[in-house]
Amino acid sequence: MCKFCENFDFGSTGYANILGGYKVYFASHAGGVPEEERFKFCPVCGRDLSAASAEEMKLSFVKHQEADKDGRHYVRDTYTIDEYTIEVDDTIYEDGATYHRITVIRPYNRIGEERYIPEINYCDGYFEHREPHFSIQTTSYGSLESEDYKLFLKAQEKAMKVVEILTKELIAEQ
Ligand SMILES: [Zn+2]
Repeated sequence: MCKFCENFDFGSTGYANILGGYKVYFASHAGGVPEEERFKFCPVCGRDLSAASAEEMKLSFVKHQEADKDGRHYVRDTYTIDEYTIEVDDTIYEDGATYHRITVIRPYNRIGEERYIPEINYCDGYFEHREPHFSIQTTSYGSLESEDYKLFLKAQEKAMKVVEILTKELIAEQ
């Protein structure tokens, strides 16, 4: 997202066939342009403005679980974001030591455009002496026809956005 599309009201601008020629027009009031006559992409950064991608991607809390077993206390918070399910686990040992883990789960059955959804991994960075972080697993699908390639790119872009949000919500703000 760029400064322009962050601030511009795309609902105020449309294109239409007016008297036999295509023209860009401005509605008299904000949001006055019908959905089908609005621009589909930001003219500055190229961001996809269509309903699906414009829909705000966010981390939604699903449930909180706690259990005691073998002298350990287990806490799990479950979230969803886009097609992923996130489990944030804390295992608290008797001596008070805590083991923190985040698991990012892809949809189990990945059919249609879901087949390109990449795996996202959490690394606590402990052994590398670095900050916790997420990484996106890459894989080769061989050669793809352009329609499939578009789906592939879309899934990777969404995964990047998911990582950005997870980093902000689950790592940076801890
Ligand atoms: Zn933009």
